[in-house]
Amino acid sequence: MLERLRYGAHMPTSKGIHNVPKETREIGGNAFQIFNHSPRSWKVKELEEAVVGRFRRAMDENGIDLDSAFVHSGYLVNLAGPKEDIWRKSIDLLVEEVELTHKLGLKYVNIHPGSHLGDGERKGIERIVRALEEVLERTRDLGVMILLENVSPKGGNIGYKLEQLKEIMDLLGSDRIGLTYDTCHGFDAGYDITTKDGVRKLLHEIDSLFGLDKLKMIHLNDSKYPLGVPKDRHENIGKGFIGREGFKTFLEFEQIRSVPLILETPGSNLEHAEDLEVLKDILKEIGVI
Ligand SMILES: [Zn+2]
Ligand SMILES: [Zn+2]
Repeated sequence: MLERLRYGAHMPTSKGIHNVPKETREIGGNAFQIFNHSPRSWKVKELEEAVVGRFRRAMDENGIDLDSAFVHSGYLVNLAGPKEDIWRKSIDLLVEEVELTHKLGLKYVNIHPGSHLGDGERKGIERIVRALEEVLERTRDLGVMILLENVSPKGGNIGYKLEQLKEIMDLLGSDRIGLTYDTCHGFDAGYDITTKDGVRKLLHEIDSLFGLDKLKMIHLNDSKYPLGVPKDRHENIGKGFIGREGFKTFLEFEQIRSVPLILETPGSNLEHAEDLEVLKDILKEIGVI
């Protein structure tokens, strides 16, 4: 049985976005995530046509398909916050990120739904929905999908429970919204993927709330803290509280393995290459590579 397994990491773009596909292969991956502009800036630097062309060619030459490459929205975007000016800037920035994603020929922008910053979940969810309605409308011809990521239950974050993401999706009623599952954030929120029952429960929840086909990416992160401790501290694969055995249990499920697995673990390319080795060892043990 040959499976199409896809794995990789969040990649730096310091050597140019057009180098990411090659660097992805160098660390042993065939999928990746990037920021498409400086994530701590409200400004989006336009990419030169030549760079865009080189990026697209590099995707092709390195055999990385467009379904396996993701853009993560910048850190400043908060679609749930009560401050009008930040909310407005967040909408405009996300629109630019989606436009740039389209220009690169990619299909997915991953976002954190946002933090209500003390204003309450109800109001936060309303603002997220209004913001995303506008973003979807302004980018309606681009065919880029927005993925809502489950987050850690801290700092007024919305989206630590899958039901909250479901509510946002239902209110939007758009087929351009999908789901990312982050294993560290989920562990923080009490989703225990270290037991078969826990994984079954999670898969059942995803399937019954969204349909499994809406799950487009998994952020594969170990956790520095135990189950249910909402610290959002990612750890290298096998070195945290999910642990090597925990990931083995998680990855024994074919429904999990069929989704691109993207590391957001500490370190950069070197450490990610090591994490991918651990992942491949686990997949060998399971007998799928
Ligand atoms: Zn994230
Ligand atoms: Zn994540």
